Amino acid sequence: MKFYSLNNKAPNVSFDTAVINGIAPDKGLYFPEEINALPSSFFENIESLSNEEIAFTAIQQFVSGIVPDDVLKNILKEVLDFDFPVVEITPNIGTLELFHGPTMAFKDVGARFMAQCLGYFSRSTKNEVTVLVATSGDTGGAVANGFLGVEVVNVVILYPSGKVSDIQERQLTTMGENITALEVDGTFDDCQAMVKNAFLDKELLDHMKLTSANSINVARWLPQLFYFLFAYKQAKSKGKEIVFSVPSGNFGNICAGLVAQRLGMPVKHFIAATNVNDTVPQFMLTKAYNPKPSTATISNAMDVGDPSNFIRIRHLFQDDFEALQKNLSSYPFDDETTKEALKEIYNINGYIADPHGAVGYLGLKKYQEQHPNTYGIFLETAHPVKFLDIVEETLHEKLEIPAQIQKVMGKDKKSIRIANYEELKSFLKN
Ligand SMILES: *Cc1c(COP(=O)(O)O)cnc(C)c1O
Repeated sequence: MKFYSLNNKAPNVSFDTAVINGIAPDKGLYFPEEINALPSSFFENIESLSNEEIAFTAIQQFVSGIVPDDVLKNILKEVLDFDFPVVEITPNIGTLELFHGPTMAFKDVGARFMAQCLGYFSRSTKNEVTVLVATSGDTGGAVANGFLGVEVVNVVILYPSGKVSDIQERQLTTMGENITALEVDGTFDDCQAMVKNAFLDKELLDHMKLTSANSINVARWLPQLFYFLFAYKQAKSKGKEIVFSVPSGNFGNICAGLVAQRLGMPVKHFIAATNVNDTVPQFMLTKAYNPKPSTATISNAMDVGDPSNFIRIRHLFQDDFEALQKNLSSYPFDDETTKEALKEIYNINGYIADPHGAVGYLGLKKYQEQHPNTYGIFLETAHPVKFLDIVEETLHEKLEIPAQIQKVMGKDKKSIRIANYEELKSFLKN
């Protein structure tokens, strides 16, 4: 299958070129030429399939002709070697825990899938590729872990000094090998601006092959559709119509859910829950898309004022607002309400959510006020320990540090400090 640019001014490309380019030469996001529905028997019998079998069937059409079936099976085996349980909160609400991977953030699956694909594409050419990525926290750790030891791929991660949590910093600065962490004197926006500069720097691009590892990249975006299928498999026996509430920042995860729906997965509705960065909730009210600078919140992985994947969602519905509205609602919540939700969930059955999951829970509750007879699943996108201070101080509970996290706590941080684009460029050229 080929992928086209949403700006329509670049050639259609195969899966490997879309992954290596990251973004099309006309700066558009890549989108698959077709999304072919799977046979209804697949959904009828989904309980009898393993996660690897489900994922294989779902993604095969997008990579066919480029990644052979046996290679794809091996990649999926490595990528999906942990659990994705739906944990019951109330009889009508479950949470899909996406944090059982190596860095305890849901980005592990996409980052590992992309890393394995890039490694495979570069196997014969031995052409080095450099993955350049800016992180406000969780992306960097997942990318560092996913790409560690992948031959001919070098990873350079920019993060704002003093503005990521201690755990997050260790996850991206203690890897070594083909992973380098650049500690930037500045904000996340500064990091992102430098990365954008690099992608536009012709002189640099003549010198090296650069690609990105955020959810703009189709190899990081598409595998996220597995989550919704894994959840459907577990929730189907409830016998109710299913709705998903997804805590959203760049809207890649929820867009992948909408692709799963296009594959034929029976789902009644999606809720995109956000923090006060409410560009999409406002759009769903007013039909006007007004991006704005981001505001810092306690669910910081969603502090996005201009969500990069929303264009893919609009495209999926051919920019038909009424059709989109039938499938998607979007609500914003502030930090105080989010903390109240953390307490509320804890008081129901002792479940400890993280601030992002709590935003998802709030979106679901709001939707279910009008649609009580549904089974709602909110996505838990990070382990609460990754937001230790805020969760402990809100719940007055001490959290246990899981083994994955303890492992990095003892390692030494290694980073290179930079302050501006010239320093980034000279680092990359050498
Ligand atoms: C990245 C992230 C999100 C947002 O996901 P998008 O695909 O960007 O909408 C939500 N929660 C956590 C913990 C994340 O790391």
